Amino acid sequence: MTFYRFTNSKKRLRIGKIMCLARTYAEHAQEMHASISENPVMFLKPDTAVIFSHDTIRIPRMSQCLHHEVELGIVMEKQGKHIPEAQAMDHVLGYCVGLDITARDLQSVAKKNGLPWGIPKGFDTFAPLSDVVTKDSIPDPRTLELELKVNGVVKQHATPGQMIFSLEHIISFLSDVMTLKPGDLILTGTPVGVGEIKEGDVLEARLGTVCMLTVDVQKES
Ligand code: MG
Repeated sequence: MTFYRFTNSKKRLRIGKIMCLARTYAEHAQEMHASISENPVMFLKPDTAVIFSHDTIRIPRMSQCLHHEVELGIVMEKQGKHIPEAQAMDHVLGYCVGLDITARDLQSVAKKNGLPWGIPKGFDTFAPLSDVVTKDSIPDPRTLELELKVNGVVKQHATPGQMIFSLEHIISFLSDVMTLKPGDLILTGTPVGVGEIKEGDVLEARLGTVCMLTVDVQKES
């Protein structure tokens, strides 16, 4: 069992299913030569992928090429199915910044063969998460800067407001597929600027100045 860490709350909440969106920022879809669809692409990550700030991303033996993807995370508080967009934000507990670490070499093979992304996205340590900040401290995450530095150099910088889909639509759409439960996490997809990370790199991600995440990269032992 893995539990969230909070900056401004003593809440104890188990991390539920992790729903990751893809192709939610137009420029990133272009850099991946992917088309934009009416609804976001979604895949699941296991909770065993979660690590926290000051932990280490492990390069698995099966991959030679990991990529960083910085993403806004939405943590759900209230259970819901077929949530109308007008009520979507009532179901949200708060936000975090997360990394959707990807074995890009394995994903390229999967894409070429029309296979799902469970393996390239699902390794242990592939979902670093910052502490969660409850939404009373973040009135509108869309206006905050979403940034990733690798070894002090800015690689990704955007605001979630540049996303193709509204947060309300994302929550409503996902709840049409699967019941959203307390502790479920939505990683909302990455903006342009993804790239390779290597052994010894230090990654610093932030959402505004409220959510901060620092992790390093080492080979799996
Ligand atoms: Mg992603």
